[in-house]
Amino acid sequence: MNRLDMPAVREASLDAREPVYLDEARILDTLVHNLDGMAYRCLDDDHWSMLFVSQGCKELTGHTPRDLVRGSRVTWELLTHPEDRVRVRAQIRQALTEGRRFQLQYRIVTRDGQVKWVQERGAAVRDESGRPVMEGFVQDVSDQLRTLEALREAEYRYRQIFEHASEGMFQSSREGRYLAANQALARMYGYDSPEQLIADLSDIQHRLYVDESRREAFIRIMEAEGKVTQFESEVLRRDGVRIWISESARAVRSPSGEFICYEGTVQDITERRGYEARLQRQANHDQLTGLPNRNLLRERLIQSMQQAERMGGQVAVVFIDLDNFKFINDALGHAAGDALLIELSRRLSRHLRGTDTVARLGGDEFVLLLNDHANVASVTALLERVVELIAKPMELGGRTLQVGASLGVSLFPRDGGDVDTLLKHADAAMYAAKDRGRNNVQFFTPELNLVASERMHLEAAMRQGLEQGEFTVHFQPQVDAQRRVVGAEALARWHHPRLGAISPDRFIPIAEESGLILALTETITLQACAAARDWPEVDGQPIRLAINLSPKLFIDPHLVARITGWLRQEGIQPQRVELEITESVFLDDPQRALRTLKAFKEKGFHLAMDDFGTGYSSLSYLRHFPLDTIKIDRSLVTDLEAQRDAAMIARAVVSLGLSLGKSVVAEGVEHESQFSALREQGCTVFQGYLFARPLTAADLLRCLDEGAGAL
Ligand code: C2E
Ligand code: CA
Ligand code: CA
Repeated sequence: MNRLDMPAVREASLDAREPVYLDEARILDTLVHNLDGMAYRCLDDDHWSMLFVSQGCKELTGHTPRDLVRGSRVTWELLTHPEDRVRVRAQIRQALTEGRRFQLQYRIVTRDGQVKWVQERGAAVRDESGRPVMEGFVQDVSDQLRTLEALREAEYRYRQIFEHASEGMFQSSREGRYLAANQALARMYGYDSPEQLIADLSDIQHRLYVDESRREAFIRIMEAEGKVTQFESEVLRRDGVRIWISESARAVRSPSGEFICYEGTVQDITERRGYEARLQRQANHDQLTGLPNRNLLRERLIQSMQQAERMGGQVAVVFIDLDNFKFINDALGHAAGDALLIELSRRLSRHLRGTDTVARLGGDEFVLLLNDHANVASVTALLERVVELIAKPMELGGRTLQVGASLGVSLFPRDGGDVDTLLKHADAAMYAAKDRGRNNVQFFTPELNLVASERMHLEAAMRQGLEQGEFTVHFQPQVDAQRRVVGAEALARWHHPRLGAISPDRFIPIAEESGLILALTETITLQACAAARDWPEVDGQPIRLAINLSPKLFIDPHLVARITGWLRQEGIQPQRVELEITESVFLDDPQRALRTLKAFKEKGFHLAMDDFGTGYSSLSYLRHFPLDTIKIDRSLVTDLEAQRDAAMIARAVVSLGLSLGKSVVAEGVEHESQFSALREQGCTVFQGYLFARPLTAADLLRCLDEGAGAL
């Protein structure tokens, strides 16, 4: 049995208080052979010839101690991994020359071919006989190394992620210094490297955040919750450019709970923010003019009402509708229409105070929101200036244009306590203003509201009136340039036994809404045809009968058959009848309108476009729909001399109609001067009080007889 020279053990036994007999050799033996690893003594020769190895040899190498000590089968040199042999020898050699203990790691190949990492520690000593030998200990460290390697790899991976992440990453102190940062963060903040960022940006709170209180908010949330998620702030880059970032971070603490640092990620969300802001703008602003839209108007109105309530003021809501805008839009093109709207919105915004709002609801509808006006007089004064402002001529594409406007006003709290009521009442007032002519301001009155309840009564009365034959027809003659009667327009009249005469402008809309329009049209058509049978010819030509058709009737798929049936019943040829339709017939379903109009044409009817020059006045309708006649709206004829743009529009309509091969009728002709002007422009047919008011059937007959067909 070999013994190891281990003085420490011997000393320990000498130290023992109680003198007991110790079989030192046996103890050492047990210890050495039970070590996890291999203790050895060898020669410093080419084979590392073993003089002694402990039992651990078998576990470590697969060889018995005997195989190794005898050197017959295997040597340590052979067991050493071929690639490591030179290094092992060099490292040991070096240590021995320097008189040091050696410690090294290398690979061995076990008996069954397995490669193991071992750690060897040893020293040169002299044996019992003074011969130089080496003694030491070899241990399997494969597992440890594998763990270490895995750790290193993980560390490497995390480092890679940290350094190459597209997201900014950081560790920072509570005081606002960066402890670590990655390349992405450096780039995001405008630095060349993380080192530069860390060195430069020493005070996050004051140098980074645009709003310094963001850092405090960050720390507050962090203290309360131990983390922040998607914390969005505006920050300053090194070059002073502002960007938006989103931070997610947590507080890193030691196992005992001590604060170490904040650690987190940063994303540049500038683009997303910009996009959101754009969306927000889009949701609240009109694209064309940049003015607040209906949404924002609503919001502002609510705020204004709340403030007026607190301070006891009042808010004015003003509806503005431009006259003739649609026509300008179509006649001069959308670009001109857009330019006009933009110019008007500029004028309005410039004129109002910053606390007031100009909104565009779409089309040519603008709404003003005026805060703190002490009284109606000051609102009126302001709005009169607004009317002037709108009416001021403007240069557009080398042309001078002028538009009129109708303004309706409702006041909070007097005329309503909520957004919808105020808007509705301002709208009602605007319509009242329109009725009174252009460039008008009209305040809401409760009477305007009565219109609504009045409607309900009228509807019931109309239903009854239709059954009781209260509706009759009047005829207004149409003449040619020589004032010879060429046609007559049938106009409905209602005489209520108690209410008296009710104007068509009041009952037609009710008839349209209630569906009574069909029954009314039947009554009027039957009566008109019966009367027309008795009309004489003028200069050998039959007098044409014009009948108004409400756009609502076009929903009826049997409209053509119905009207043809009524005519047949009364013995009138469709060729003698001109149907007057308005543009709104095209709004719902242009294809259906086109089909119906074509069907009318096939039956031989004449078709006229009524009230042209107001409303939509789309020229494409004129071009694509089978219309024979255009009737210039009365308002244009009325304003012919007074308003420059009305004259311009009238002239444009006449020449356009003529160029498309339509005959052009002017209605509402009251003065000789209008008659001659329109005649000069090329109008072919005229209608108006100058020639005759609407007449009863009997009066028309008398009139025709007396004047021999001329008026
Ligand atoms: P409209 O089709 O534009 O009819 C012309 C209107 O102008 C008539 O009003 C007529 O009396 C009026 N008028 C004619 N010449 C002059 C003039 O020189 N000066 C002025 N200030 N006015 C003039 P009325 O009869 O009150 O009819 C109003 C509207 O009611 C009509 O306008 C038409 O849209 C509608 N309407 C009347 N009868 C019928 C009908 O039987 N069916 C349908 N669907 N609508 C009808
Ligand atoms: Ca008409
Ligand atoms: Ca008309």
